[in-house]
Amino acid sequence: MASIAEREAAVFLKTGARVPLTLVRGEGTRVWDDSGKEYLDFVAGISTDALGHAHPAMLKAINEQAQQLIHVSNIFYTVPQVDLAELIVRESGMAGVFFCNSGAEANEGAIKLARKWGRDHRNGAFEIITAENAFHGRTLTTVTATGNPKYMDPFGPLPPGFVYVPYNDIDALRGAINEKTCAIMLEPVQGEGGVNVPDPEYLPAVRKLCDDENILLMLDEIQTGMGRTGTMFGFQRYDFTPDIMTLAKGLGGGIPVAVIVANEKASVFEPGDHGTTFGGQPFATAVALAVAQTLVDEGIPQQAAEKGDHLQRRLRALEDTHPEVEGVRGQGLLVAVAFKNDIAAEVAAAARDLGLLCNNVRPNAIRLMPPLTVSEAEIDRAVEILGEALTIVGDA
Ligand SMILES: *Cc1c(COP(=O)(O)O)cnc(C)c1O
Repeated sequence: MASIAEREAAVFLKTGARVPLTLVRGEGTRVWDDSGKEYLDFVAGISTDALGHAHPAMLKAINEQAQQLIHVSNIFYTVPQVDLAELIVRESGMAGVFFCNSGAEANEGAIKLARKWGRDHRNGAFEIITAENAFHGRTLTTVTATGNPKYMDPFGPLPPGFVYVPYNDIDALRGAINEKTCAIMLEPVQGEGGVNVPDPEYLPAVRKLCDDENILLMLDEIQTGMGRTGTMFGFQRYDFTPDIMTLAKGLGGGIPVAVIVANEKASVFEPGDHGTTFGGQPFATAVALAVAQTLVDEGIPQQAAEKGDHLQRRLRALEDTHPEVEGVRGQGLLVAVAFKNDIAAEVAAAARDLGLLCNNVRPNAIRLMPPLTVSEAEIDRAVEILGEALTIVGDA
Protein backbone atom coordinates (compact mmCIF):
# COMPACT_ATOMS: atom_id res chain seq x y z
CA MET A 1 0.00 0.00 0.00
CA ALA A 2 1.19 3.52 -0.77
CA SER A 3 2.44 5.57 2.17
CA ILE A 4 0.60 8.75 3.12
CA ALA A 5 3.55 10.75 1.72
CA GLU A 6 3.17 9.00 -1.66
CA ARG A 7 -0.60 9.44 -1.67
CA GLU A 8 -0.23 13.14 -0.86
CA ALA A 9 2.45 13.71 -3.48
CA ALA A 10 0.11 12.27 -6.12
CA VAL A 11 -2.74 14.69 -5.42
CA PHE A 12 -1.37 17.87 -3.78
CA LEU A 13 0.04 21.06 -5.22
CA LYS A 14 3.57 21.19 -3.89
CA THR A 15 3.79 23.99 -1.33
CA GLY A 16 5.86 22.70 1.54
CA ALA A 17 7.96 19.99 3.07
CA ARG A 18 6.34 18.09 5.90
CA VAL A 19 7.97 16.43 8.85
CA PRO A 20 7.66 12.65 8.27
CA LEU A 21 5.05 12.14 10.94
CA THR A 22 1.31 11.47 10.73
CA LEU A 23 -0.58 12.61 13.82
CA VAL A 24 -3.93 11.02 14.60
CA ARG A 25 -4.95 11.98 18.16
CA GLY A 26 -4.26 14.50 20.90
CA GLU A 27 -5.04 15.13 24.55
CA GLY A 28 -3.74 18.09 26.52
CA THR A 29 -0.08 18.64 25.60
CA ARG A 30 0.28 15.13 24.14
CA VAL A 31 -0.30 13.84 20.61
CA TRP A 32 -0.02 10.35 19.13
CA ASP A 33 1.12 9.26 15.68
CA ASP A 34 -0.35 6.52 13.50
CA SER A 35 1.91 3.90 15.10
CA GLY A 36 0.68 4.81 18.59
CA LYS A 37 3.88 6.63 19.61
CA GLU A 38 3.35 9.54 22.04
CA TYR A 39 4.88 13.03 21.76
CA LEU A 40 4.90 16.20 23.83
CA ASP A 41 3.46 18.80 21.47
CA PHE A 42 5.53 21.99 21.78
CA VAL A 43 4.33 23.15 18.36
CA ALA A 44 0.64 23.30 19.34
CA GLY A 45 -0.51 23.90 15.78
CA ILE A 46 1.93 26.82 15.50
CA SER A 47 0.81 28.59 18.65
CA THR A 48 -2.82 27.81 17.85
CA ASP A 49 -3.93 25.10 20.29
CA ALA A 50 -4.00 27.49 23.24
CA LEU A 51 -5.90 25.07 25.51
CA GLY A 52 -4.14 21.97 24.19
CA HIS A 53 -5.92 19.07 22.50
CA ALA A 54 -9.45 17.90 23.37
CA HIS A 55 -9.99 20.51 26.10
CA PRO A 56 -13.38 19.87 27.82
CA ALA A 57 -14.54 23.50 27.43
CA MET A 58 -13.93 23.33 23.69
CA LEU A 59 -15.56 19.91 23.31
CA LYS A 60 -18.65 21.17 25.15
CA ALA A 61 -18.93 24.27 22.95
CA ILE A 62 -18.31 22.23 19.78
CA ASN A 63 -21.02 19.71 20.66
CA GLU A 64 -23.61 22.21 21.82
CA GLN A 65 -23.13 24.68 18.96
CA ALA A 66 -22.97 21.96 16.27
CA GLN A 67 -26.40 20.78 17.38
CA GLN A 68 -27.75 24.33 17.56
CA LEU A 69 -26.51 26.14 14.44
CA ILE A 70 -23.27 25.94 12.44
CA HIS A 71 -23.60 28.54 9.70
CA VAL A 72 -26.25 30.89 8.31
CA SER A 73 -24.14 33.73 6.76
CA ASN A 74 -23.84 37.33 7.85
CA ILE A 75 -27.17 38.25 6.29
CA PHE A 76 -28.61 37.43 9.74
CA TYR A 77 -27.79 38.23 13.34
CA THR A 78 -26.32 35.35 15.33
CA VAL A 79 -25.60 35.39 19.06
CA PRO A 80 -22.13 33.80 19.59
CA GLN A 81 -20.32 36.36 17.39
CA VAL A 82 -21.77 39.24 19.42
CA ASP A 83 -20.85 37.50 22.70
CA LEU A 84 -17.28 37.02 21.44
CA ALA A 85 -17.07 40.59 20.13
CA GLU A 86 -18.14 41.93 23.54
CA LEU A 87 -15.47 39.86 25.26
CA ILE A 88 -12.71 41.00 22.85
CA VAL A 89 -13.74 44.66 23.15
CA ARG A 90 -13.89 44.38 26.95
CA GLU A 91 -10.49 42.66 27.24
CA SER A 92 -8.68 44.89 24.73
CA GLY A 93 -10.21 48.26 25.58
CA MET A 94 -10.73 48.80 21.84
CA ALA A 95 -13.91 49.77 20.01
CA GLY A 96 -15.06 47.23 17.41
CA VAL A 97 -14.37 43.99 15.55
CA PHE A 98 -14.68 42.31 12.16
CA PHE A 99 -14.55 38.50 12.17
CA CYS A 100 -12.91 36.46 9.40
CA ASN A 101 -11.23 33.08 8.98
CA SER A 102 -7.45 33.22 8.91
CA GLY A 103 -4.53 35.40 9.88
CA ALA A 104 -3.76 36.54 6.35
CA GLU A 105 -7.39 37.44 5.80
CA ALA A 106 -7.47 39.51 9.00
CA ASN A 107 -4.32 41.39 7.97
CA GLU A 108 -5.67 41.89 4.46
CA GLY A 109 -8.79 43.52 5.93
CA ALA A 110 -6.72 45.51 8.42
CA ILE A 111 -4.67 46.89 5.52
CA LYS A 112 -7.87 47.92 3.74
CA LEU A 113 -9.01 49.63 6.93
CA ALA A 114 -5.73 51.55 7.30
CA ARG A 115 -5.79 52.62 3.64
CA LYS A 116 -9.35 53.87 3.98
CA TRP A 117 -8.34 55.82 7.10
CA GLY A 118 -5.44 57.32 5.15
CA ARG A 119 -7.69 58.28 2.28
CA ASP A 120 -10.24 59.96 4.55
CA HIS A 121 -7.99 61.41 7.27
CA ARG A 122 -4.48 61.88 5.88
CA ASN A 123 -4.84 63.24 2.35
CA GLY A 124 -4.88 59.88 0.61
CA ALA A 125 -1.86 58.45 2.42
CA PHE A 126 -1.60 54.69 1.71
CA GLU A 127 1.89 53.50 2.55
CA ILE A 128 2.37 51.06 5.40
CA ILE A 129 5.76 50.58 7.03
CA THR A 130 6.53 47.01 8.10
CA ALA A 131 9.59 45.35 9.62
CA GLU A 132 12.25 43.13 8.13
CA ASN A 133 11.83 39.48 9.19
CA ALA A 134 8.12 40.07 9.72
CA PHE A 135 5.42 37.57 8.83
CA HIS A 136 1.94 38.82 7.95
CA GLY A 137 0.54 36.10 5.65
CA ARG A 138 0.48 34.70 2.11
CA THR A 139 -2.17 36.61 0.18
CA LEU A 140 -0.75 38.96 -2.45
CA THR A 141 -1.00 41.98 -0.15
CA THR A 142 0.04 40.34 3.12
CA VAL A 143 2.97 38.60 1.44
CA THR A 144 4.05 42.04 0.24
CA ALA A 145 3.68 43.35 3.81
CA THR A 146 5.85 40.40 4.89
CA GLY A 147 8.58 41.60 2.57
CA ASN A 148 10.45 38.29 2.23
CA PRO A 149 11.68 38.09 -1.41
CA LYS A 150 11.52 34.28 -1.35
CA TYR A 151 7.75 34.41 -0.72
CA MET A 152 7.09 37.39 -3.03
CA ASP A 153 9.23 37.21 -6.13
CA PRO A 154 7.38 34.54 -8.14
CA PHE A 155 4.04 36.36 -7.84
CA GLY A 156 4.49 39.86 -9.21
CA PRO A 157 3.24 42.38 -9.90
CA LEU A 158 2.64 42.94 -6.21
CA PRO A 159 0.51 45.71 -4.72
CA PRO A 160 2.43 48.93 -4.09
CA GLY A 161 2.49 50.76 -0.78
CA PHE A 162 4.84 48.86 1.54
CA VAL A 163 8.11 50.09 3.00
CA TYR A 164 10.45 47.94 5.10
CA VAL A 165 12.70 48.93 7.99
CA PRO A 166 14.78 46.91 10.48
CA TYR A 167 12.77 45.68 13.50
CA ASN A 168 13.46 47.19 16.92
CA ASP A 169 14.93 50.36 15.38
CA ILE A 170 12.88 53.45 16.18
CA ASP A 171 15.13 55.80 14.18
CA ALA A 172 14.63 53.70 11.04
CA LEU A 173 10.85 54.00 11.50
CA ARG A 174 11.08 57.75 12.04
CA GLY A 175 13.17 58.11 8.90
CA ALA A 176 10.73 56.10 6.78
CA ILE A 177 7.63 58.20 7.55
CA ASN A 178 6.51 60.70 4.92
CA GLU A 179 3.28 62.33 3.78
CA LYS A 180 2.24 59.09 2.01
CA THR A 181 2.50 56.98 5.21
CA CYS A 182 -0.81 55.89 6.75
CA ALA A 183 0.36 53.25 9.25
CA ILE A 184 3.10 51.22 10.87
CA MET A 185 2.39 47.48 11.11
CA LEU A 186 4.39 45.31 13.53
CA GLU A 187 4.32 42.10 15.53
CA PRO A 188 4.82 42.70 19.28
CA VAL A 189 7.26 39.76 19.13
CA GLN A 190 8.26 38.47 15.69
CA GLY A 191 7.14 34.84 15.60
CA GLU A 192 8.00 33.32 12.23
CA GLY A 193 11.04 35.61 12.04
CA GLY A 194 12.59 33.60 14.87
CA VAL A 195 10.98 34.84 18.13
CA ASN A 196 12.58 38.29 18.04
CA VAL A 197 11.73 40.21 21.22
CA PRO A 198 12.10 44.01 20.94
CA ASP A 199 13.69 46.21 23.60
CA PRO A 200 11.13 47.27 26.23
CA GLU A 201 11.25 50.92 25.03
CA TYR A 202 10.60 50.09 21.37
CA LEU A 203 6.83 49.60 21.11
CA PRO A 204 5.92 52.50 23.46
CA ALA A 205 8.21 54.70 21.35
CA VAL A 206 6.46 53.48 18.17
CA ARG A 207 3.10 54.35 19.73
CA LYS A 208 4.34 57.88 20.53
CA LEU A 209 5.80 58.26 17.03
CA CYS A 210 2.46 57.27 15.47
CA ASP A 211 0.65 59.81 17.66
CA ASP A 212 3.14 62.58 16.87
CA GLU A 213 2.93 61.90 13.12
CA ASN A 214 -0.83 61.17 13.07
CA ILE A 215 -0.49 57.70 11.53
CA LEU A 216 -2.01 54.41 12.70
CA LEU A 217 -0.29 51.75 14.79
CA MET A 218 -1.32 48.29 13.58
CA LEU A 219 -0.26 45.32 15.70
CA ASP A 220 -0.30 41.86 14.14
CA GLU A 221 -1.07 39.79 17.25
CA ILE A 222 -1.97 36.69 15.27
CA GLN A 223 0.78 34.74 17.03
CA THR A 224 1.27 36.80 20.22
CA GLY A 225 -2.40 37.34 21.12
CA MET A 226 -4.70 35.26 23.36
CA GLY A 227 -2.29 34.81 26.26
CA ARG A 228 0.70 33.47 24.37
CA THR A 229 3.23 36.05 25.59
CA GLY A 230 1.94 36.19 29.17
CA THR A 231 -0.78 38.84 28.81
CA MET A 232 -4.08 38.44 26.95
CA PHE A 233 -2.67 40.61 24.15
CA GLY A 234 1.02 41.31 23.60
CA PHE A 235 0.52 45.07 23.84
CA GLN A 236 -0.84 44.74 27.40
CA ARG A 237 2.70 44.33 28.67
CA TYR A 238 2.91 48.07 27.97
CA ASP A 239 0.83 51.10 28.83
CA PHE A 240 -0.78 51.78 25.43
CA THR A 241 -3.37 50.52 22.95
CA PRO A 242 -2.84 50.05 19.19
CA ASP A 243 -5.23 51.56 16.63
CA ILE A 244 -5.74 48.23 14.86
CA MET A 245 -4.97 44.71 16.08
CA THR A 246 -5.38 41.37 14.30
CA LEU A 247 -5.86 38.01 16.04
CA ALA A 248 -6.10 34.48 14.66
CA LYS A 249 -4.04 31.43 15.71
CA GLY A 250 -4.89 31.08 19.44
CA LEU A 251 -8.28 32.75 19.08
CA GLY A 252 -10.13 29.59 18.09
CA GLY A 253 -7.95 27.18 20.03
CA GLY A 254 -7.50 25.27 16.74
CA ILE A 255 -10.79 26.15 14.98
CA PRO A 256 -10.19 28.59 12.08
CA VAL A 257 -11.34 32.04 13.17
CA ALA A 258 -9.70 35.47 13.04
CA VAL A 259 -10.59 39.04 13.85
CA ILE A 260 -9.70 42.64 13.08
CA VAL A 261 -10.03 44.86 16.15
CA ALA A 262 -10.01 48.66 15.81
CA ASN A 263 -10.14 51.57 18.21
CA GLU A 264 -12.51 54.50 17.71
CA LYS A 265 -10.07 56.44 15.51
CA ALA A 266 -9.56 53.60 13.04
CA SER A 267 -13.19 52.43 12.88
CA VAL A 268 -13.76 53.79 9.37
CA PHE A 269 -15.48 50.87 7.62
CA GLU A 270 -18.96 51.73 6.38
CA PRO A 271 -21.68 49.37 5.13
CA GLY A 272 -20.49 47.64 1.95
CA ASP A 273 -16.76 48.26 2.55
CA HIS A 274 -15.84 44.73 3.59
CA GLY A 275 -17.48 41.36 3.97
CA THR A 276 -17.16 37.60 4.35
CA THR A 277 -19.31 34.50 3.99
CA PHE A 278 -17.80 32.30 6.71
CA GLY A 279 -16.38 34.97 9.01
CA GLY A 280 -18.01 35.08 12.46
CA GLN A 281 -20.18 32.01 11.86
CA PRO A 282 -21.91 30.72 15.02
CA PHE A 283 -19.85 27.51 15.18
CA ALA A 284 -16.40 29.11 15.03
CA THR A 285 -17.27 32.02 17.29
CA ALA A 286 -18.99 29.81 19.90
CA VAL A 287 -15.83 27.72 20.15
CA ALA A 288 -13.62 30.83 20.24
CA LEU A 289 -15.86 32.27 22.95
CA ALA A 290 -15.37 29.13 25.06
CA VAL A 291 -11.60 29.38 24.55
CA ALA A 292 -11.43 33.09 25.40
CA GLN A 293 -13.76 32.74 28.40
CA THR A 294 -11.58 29.92 29.73
CA LEU A 295 -8.45 32.06 29.30
CA VAL A 296 -10.11 34.88 31.27
CA ASP A 297 -11.80 32.76 33.97
CA GLU A 298 -8.72 30.68 34.74
CA GLY A 299 -6.15 33.46 34.48
CA ILE A 300 -4.30 31.45 31.84
CA PRO A 301 -2.29 34.38 30.37
CA GLN A 302 -0.73 35.07 33.78
CA GLN A 303 0.03 31.35 34.13
CA ALA A 304 1.64 31.43 30.68
CA ALA A 305 3.93 34.22 31.92
CA GLU A 306 5.05 32.12 34.90
CA LYS A 307 5.38 28.90 32.93
CA GLY A 308 7.30 30.78 30.24
CA ASP A 309 9.75 32.10 32.84
CA HIS A 310 10.17 28.55 34.12
CA LEU A 311 10.73 27.22 30.58
CA GLN A 312 13.30 29.92 29.78
CA ARG A 313 15.10 29.35 33.09
CA ARG A 314 15.32 25.61 32.47
CA LEU A 315 16.47 26.13 28.88
CA ARG A 316 19.21 28.56 29.99
CA ALA A 317 20.64 25.77 32.12
CA LEU A 318 21.33 23.94 28.83
CA GLU A 319 23.77 26.71 27.89
CA ASP A 320 26.17 25.41 30.57
CA THR A 321 26.00 21.76 29.53
CA HIS A 322 25.71 22.15 25.74
CA PRO A 323 28.20 24.58 24.18
CA GLU A 324 26.30 24.58 20.85
CA VAL A 325 23.51 26.60 22.55
CA GLU A 326 24.01 30.30 21.93
CA GLY A 327 21.07 31.66 23.87
CA VAL A 328 17.40 31.59 24.80
CA ARG A 329 14.90 34.29 23.89
CA GLY A 330 11.17 34.70 24.18
CA GLN A 331 8.16 36.09 25.98
CA GLY A 332 5.69 33.95 27.89
CA LEU A 333 5.28 30.61 26.12
CA LEU A 334 6.71 31.81 22.81
CA VAL A 335 10.35 30.83 23.16
CA ALA A 336 13.33 30.08 20.92
CA VAL A 337 16.65 28.40 21.58
CA ALA A 338 19.40 29.71 19.31
CA PHE A 339 22.45 27.66 18.34
CA LYS A 340 25.91 28.73 17.25
CA ASN A 341 25.52 26.72 14.01
CA ASP A 342 22.71 25.77 11.64
CA ILE A 343 21.71 22.60 13.49
CA ALA A 344 18.05 23.42 14.23
CA ALA A 345 16.60 20.89 11.77
CA GLU A 346 18.80 18.12 13.19
CA VAL A 347 17.94 19.06 16.78
CA ALA A 348 14.20 19.10 15.98
CA ALA A 349 14.48 15.69 14.27
CA ALA A 350 16.42 14.17 17.18
CA ALA A 351 13.92 15.61 19.68
CA ARG A 352 11.07 14.14 17.64
CA ASP A 353 12.61 10.69 17.78
CA LEU A 354 12.83 11.11 21.56
CA GLY A 355 9.17 12.21 21.82
CA LEU A 356 9.19 16.02 21.67
CA LEU A 357 7.72 18.08 18.82
CA CYS A 358 9.31 21.49 18.29
CA ASN A 359 9.81 23.67 15.23
CA ASN A 360 13.07 24.72 13.54
CA VAL A 361 11.92 28.30 12.97
CA ARG A 362 15.36 29.39 11.68
CA PRO A 363 18.32 27.32 10.45
CA ASN A 364 20.00 28.11 13.78
CA ALA A 365 17.00 28.25 16.14
CA ILE A 366 14.14 26.07 17.34
CA ARG A 367 10.86 27.48 18.59
CA LEU A 368 8.91 26.13 21.57
CA MET A 369 5.22 27.12 21.86
CA PRO A 370 3.35 24.51 23.90
CA PRO A 371 -0.33 24.80 24.77
CA LEU A 372 -0.79 27.48 27.45
CA THR A 373 -2.19 24.69 29.64
CA VAL A 374 1.16 22.83 29.64
CA SER A 375 2.25 21.60 33.10
CA GLU A 376 5.60 22.33 34.75
CA ALA A 377 6.34 18.60 34.69
CA GLU A 378 5.77 18.56 30.91
CA ILE A 379 8.05 21.58 30.51
CA ASP A 380 10.75 19.86 32.56
CA ARG A 381 10.43 16.68 30.51
CA ALA A 382 10.59 18.65 27.24
CA VAL A 383 13.80 20.41 28.31
CA GLU A 384 15.25 17.06 29.38
CA ILE A 385 14.49 15.61 25.93
CA LEU A 386 15.98 18.66 24.26
CA GLY A 387 19.18 18.16 26.26
CA GLU A 388 19.34 14.53 25.10
CA ALA A 389 18.71 15.65 21.50
CA LEU A 390 21.55 18.19 21.75
CA THR A 391 23.87 15.51 23.05
CA ILE A 392 23.01 13.27 20.08
CA VAL A 393 23.44 16.09 17.52
CA GLY A 394 26.58 17.39 19.26
CA ASP A 395 28.19 13.92 19.23
CA ALA A 396 27.30 13.25 15.58
C1 LIG B 1 0.58 32.84 11.22
C2 LIG B 1 0.67 34.30 11.11
C3 LIG B 1 0.00 35.00 10.10
C4 LIG B 1 -0.79 34.30 9.00
O1 LIG B 1 -1.87 33.57 9.50
P1 LIG B 1 -2.57 32.48 8.54
O2 LIG B 1 -3.74 32.03 9.35
O3 LIG B 1 -1.57 31.42 8.27
O4 LIG B 1 -2.98 33.19 7.31
C5 LIG B 1 0.09 36.37 10.07
N1 LIG B 1 0.80 37.04 11.01
C6 LIG B 1 1.45 36.40 11.99
C7 LIG B 1 2.20 37.19 13.01
C8 LIG B 1 1.44 35.02 12.07
O5 LIG B 1 2.11 34.38 13.03
